[in-house]
Amino acid sequence: MPYDVISIGGSFAGMAAALQLVRARRSVLVIDAGERRNRFASHAHGFLGQDGADPGEIAATARRQLKTYPTLTWVEGRVENVSGQLDGFTVTTADGDLHHGRRILIASGVADQLPDVTGLAERWGTAVFHCPYCHAYELGEGRIGVIAANPMSFHQAQLLTEWGEVILLVNEAMPLNSDITSALQGKGVVIEEVPIDRIEGKADVRLVDGRLLAFSGLFVASRCTPSNPLAESLGCALEETVLGLQIHTDAENKTSVPGVFACGDVARIPHSVSVAVGNGALAGMQIHRSLCWPETVLPLRG
Ligand code: FAD
Ligand code: MG
Repeated sequence: MPYDVISIGGSFAGMAAALQLVRARRSVLVIDAGERRNRFASHAHGFLGQDGADPGEIAATARRQLKTYPTLTWVEGRVENVSGQLDGFTVTTADGDLHHGRRILIASGVADQLPDVTGLAERWGTAVFHCPYCHAYELGEGRIGVIAANPMSFHQAQLLTEWGEVILLVNEAMPLNSDITSALQGKGVVIEEVPIDRIEGKADVRLVDGRLLAFSGLFVASRCTPSNPLAESLGCALEETVLGLQIHTDAENKTSVPGVFACGDVARIPHSVSVAVGNGALAGMQIHRSLCWPETVLPLRG
């Protein structure tokens, strides 16, 4: 018997979807590789009722609760291939195991592409962040460095002035023009054009001219792309957003391929635990409806 649903990814979005589905007594297989996007951070902020909690503990509690439902199957592993069509998908894991499902949910998150700055990757999630709403409050209105990565960095630098004094470290990432410069200066952003040599200490930036700029924290607008090529290989349409590349879905989380749904960071900006959980819950309900009414999914709108 095929599973009703196979979720590729069992983090916030995938588990939120699975919860709705097992509560509707549907059989769900969650396959998860255990690489949550915020695994580098010891505290997650902005998730109602769990503000400041360890994201690993939030996820572990959710997983424990989910596993009490008899129609849930959990596999730790990595999906390497998906093939088939509506009502007849086959998923292959890295171990070579085959699993069959009527619907596919892609909840496998995004990968962050960080600029190549010495000392940056090892501080990701502890002193270098991407989301002001998740991490800027804790910097206590101290000085914030924005390491330019792409045009989104201009917006990020301006927004972050709401949380403290901001220096934009252009680091030869892209050209400035007079419009950009005056918009940045209009918000009080200080522009530093001398390139970065490396990051030192907690969050201090050594420039190539030898100066050391001290910061309470650093931000970088990482470019996000789906963490695996499975959606693309299934033929799902992708779309470009201000944060990078995501799977195109409609308001009910359907991708362009019948029977394939997507939710969470891989399908919805902005990226946060709250949004991933909300979007995952919606996807779970919508997949359930597609199993109840296979011919036409009743639209939630209109
Ligand atoms: P993810 O949490 O990324 O989970 C995707 C899951 O799919 C992973 O377990 C992965 O292993 C699995 N997977 C991927 N490919 C496969 C495959 N082929 N087979 C099987 N499994 C696969 N948000 C907040 O709200 N508050 C915060 O404080 C916060 N801090 C953050 C700090 C950092 C450093 C970062 C990078 C992000 C932070 N976020 C925060 C954002 C938050 O982590 C994401 O919005 C959230 O994790 C998205 O959930 P998701 O389920 O969509 O994807
Ligand atoms: Mg998930």
